Amino acid sequence: MPMYEYSCESCSNKFEIRQKFSDPPADRCPECGGPVRKNISATAFSLKGDGWFNTGYCAKTDSPKPSACACAAGGGCPAG
Ligand SMILES: [Zn+2]
Repeated sequence: MPMYEYSCESCSNKFEIRQKFSDPPADRCPECGGPVRKNISATAFSLKGDGWFNTGYCAKTDSPKPSACACAAGGGCPAG
């Protein structure tokens, strides 16, 4: 899940939120309720730990069958 960094325009509070792509963006500062602005930061697409696409789909880059990767991304794969 991508991490978004926001900064408050009222109190300069900075905070980060993990959000799904389908989640609405934060628009309120949790500290003062003021308007916030989304920052694009290096942490926006951190893939450390349980990265949002590094869930095993294409983990084996040396797989003799690269088609299995695309198959997994499609949601269904024949056994084997
Ligand atoms: Zn604030």
